[in-house]
Amino acid sequence: MSTVHVRNVKKSYSDLTVIEDLSFDIRDGEFMVFVGPSGCGKSTLLRMIAGLESFQGGEVAIGERVVNGVPARDRNIAMVFQDYALYPHMTIRDNMSFGLKMRKTPRPEIERRVAAAAEILQIGHLLERKPRALSGGQRQRVAMGRAIVREPDVFLFDEPLSNLDAKLRVEVRTEIKRLHARLGATMIYVTHDQVEAMTMADRIVVLKGGAVEQIGTPQELYREPRTRFVAGFIGSPG
Ligand code: ADP
Ligand code: MG
Repeated sequence: MSTVHVRNVKKSYSDLTVIEDLSFDIRDGEFMVFVGPSGCGKSTLLRMIAGLESFQGGEVAIGERVVNGVPARDRNIAMVFQDYALYPHMTIRDNMSFGLKMRKTPRPEIERRVAAAAEILQIGHLLERKPRALSGGQRQRVAMGRAIVREPDVFLFDEPLSNLDAKLRVEVRTEIKRLHARLGATMIYVTHDQVEAMTMADRIVVLKGGAVEQIGTPQELYREPRTRFVAGFIGSPG
């Protein structure tokens, strides 16, 4: 578990400024949801926290440690992508083991972690299959399994439900919340879907144009939206 701090971060892609001056703090074990329209910088933000993207100003800290310039593999963070990003030629077991092998984790330890993750996600019967033999929902579970085996302090989710149909979306949403309750890890979850945000979050950050519009619990945002944008986005009467 770990806190996450973003302080005065600035990010641009050549002459396009995506994030001007962004600051927020995430508590240990919190399920924090970032919600905002497409193009507002959600994926960019996650990639910066993960160490997959450089930025021009400010600071990102995981716990007490400022991680600016620390490569992704040296941050105790795992990211779950919307397109799953599984290796098509590898079995599910190998997909889940791959990152740990790269880190020279001893084989018995890898086996222990894969078995534990498979048990949590109920995908033990799928381990010898290839990704193409799995449904979308199963693939998303494998993507989560690959994150779990790293035993990260912080999980990052980038719109993990967006490729699933409505029924599966509810199922995987519940699964992610169950995972949060079970592992107690800090989770940062990005979506453009206000229903996901309202039902899953401990707190929500509403983003607009790479800036914080409001931070609060779902109830706070619903009852006291600070701006018309928040009210419109959250669907509250305010
Ligand atoms: P979101 O995830 O909220 O939809 P993104 O973080 O993907 O938003 O993108 C924010 C803005 O930055 C968009 O205008 C997008 O076109 C731009 N952008 C994202 N990635 C790159 C990149 N690698 N190079 C140039 N522009 C990018
Ligand atoms: Mg995105």
